[in-house]
Amino acid sequence: MGEPLLQVNGLKKYFPITGGVFSKEIGEVKAVDDVSFTVYKGETLGIVGESGCGKSTTGRMILRLLEPTEGSIIFEGQEITRLSKSALRKMRRDMQMIFQDPFASLNPRHTVEKILEEPLIVHGIGSKQERKKRVQEMLEVVGLGRYHAKRYPHQFSGGQRQRIGIARALMTHPKLIIADEPVSALDVSIQAQVLNLLEDLQKEFGLTYIFIAHDLGVVRHISDRVGVMYLGRLVELADSDTLYQSPKHPYTKALLSAVPIPDPEHQQERQLLAGDLPSPANPPKGCAFHTRCSACMDICKTTRPEFKEVEQGHYVACHLY
Ligand code: SF4
Repeated sequence: MGEPLLQVNGLKKYFPITGGVFSKEIGEVKAVDDVSFTVYKGETLGIVGESGCGKSTTGRMILRLLEPTEGSIIFEGQEITRLSKSALRKMRRDMQMIFQDPFASLNPRHTVEKILEEPLIVHGIGSKQERKKRVQEMLEVVGLGRYHAKRYPHQFSGGQRQRIGIARALMTHPKLIIADEPVSALDVSIQAQVLNLLEDLQKEFGLTYIFIAHDLGVVRHISDRVGVMYLGRLVELADSDTLYQSPKHPYTKALLSAVPIPDPEHQQERQLLAGDLPSPANPPKGCAFHTRCSACMDICKTTRPEFKEVEQGHYVACHLY
């Protein structure tokens, strides 16, 4: 499988819930609750789940945009959860993020040139002239023109703005890119173009991706392996083909039922997702999916299933296995 680039072990993020006149802590939301996985150099790991499942919080903790409550994050063999501020800043060159809404993440008052130059200035990379040259090269790499450098974000279409977001993420030559729903805000016709661009860039620059999405259809195209999250936990993780052709967890099966499968030989029996997502502030006991699972047994209501390897490289948290 290659060399690990990133290892996440027992990662947790609990947000306090406060209430009353004195804003006392009256509970906590377990947004991410004991998540572990490895990302290998050069691969794309897709992370999928409904909104509120903890996938974006996981991405933000890896980049240390959010402090983990507990757990360890090892990047290139180095524990990064306790890095000093200056060491953290250095490490940020190697890890970048692409956001869902490129418009919200690009400063509307800055030209594209200024937006793309900024990460180089922050990290003290290159002279003014070298920075300008890199901006122009990067615009071409993402399929825009050098003449776009002097324009402002509002002068671009949604797809073009996401290309600017991608160019900005690539400016510092990162090793890992966390793409948080990078095509969800785009028209379906543009989504494929942006996904193809991401794939081309991965080959060209040897990038490793964590690709976060709420839709299994989108990540299939781009991911080598896919992890499925439900209420703050990973419930299944396998290589893409295995996960799509023989999913094990009832939640994965239900998510896949919602995705049109072009190959009739691999049609799954349809399992519809019943009921609403429970509140992460008050998740069900035992298996958190038991309130919506058609295969629920008595043990599921009391005992949380362990996330374990049931076949080589195929991990599931379910009492059926
Ligand atoms: Fe369903 Fe039980 Fe498996 Fe949870 S552990 S997914 S409730 S069968």
